[in-house]
Amino acid sequence: PRQFFVGGNFKMNGVQESITNIVNNLNSAKLDSNTEVVISPPAVYLALTRSLADPKIGVAAQNVYDKPNGAFTGEISVEHLRDTKVDWAVIGHSERRVILKECDDFIARKVKAAIEGGLSVIFCVGETLEEREANKTIEVVTRQLNAAAKELSKEQWAKVVIAYEPVWAIGTGKVATTEQAQEVHAAIRKWLGEAISPQAKEDVRIIYGGSVSEKNCRELAKQPDVDGFLVGGASLKPAFVDIINARI
Ligand code: 13P
Repeated sequence: PRQFFVGGNFKMNGVQESITNIVNNLNSAKLDSNTEVVISPPAVYLALTRSLADPKIGVAAQNVYDKPNGAFTGEISVEHLRDTKVDWAVIGHSERRVILKECDDFIARKVKAAIEGGLSVIFCVGETLEEREANKTIEVVTRQLNAAAKELSKEQWAKVVIAYEPVWAIGTGKVATTEQAQEVHAAIRKWLGEAISPQAKEDVRIIYGGSVSEKNCRELAKQPDVDGFLVGGASLKPAFVDIINARI
């Protein structure tokens, strides 16, 4: 069975004081020991978060660059993250795809660099409202996945958690229905079997993101192909604990 996985993506929110409070709350909360928890603060607070958080809680960068070092002003390398004891990176978030204009190939190269450098990756895919209304959801998600498949060996998918995040559900309060989420997750799992391997189909976790809350998490968590969540807004609140515990 795949271990339930809940990520908290703080996005560009929080300062030292509030992030310290969030991490201390998580440290003292009763968290389902069967859930893998990974939190992702802004880059300048990664070291702080790593030093405060219980060792059982993973820490993820919200982005990473594909080159190891050099004249790339403003970027952060895989080595910097490893040196800071950060084990995860979120790559391909829709806010980076849409606002920062990152393309499939660049994102795929970053996924490869991260994994080759020893990180695990939360790899985000998902369609816009326009794409969903044009019935292109599976096509778009498959295109995003195929770009990564071109860069990775079959074995490297063991280091990937796929986050399905429909862009229209992010920060809108408009959560995907359980049927909508399960349908896309099942399609991604089928793709894993066809494009990668039977083992990847069985083992790779597919988590849902987009307006997940303490109210809707339990129904979503019952879906056979929903292996957890990537939580934005609610990860900054005490309700994050209820989402981590969605399966108990
Ligand atoms: P919200 O939970 O705020 O909708 O954000 C989802 C998300 O983008 C997580 O990466």
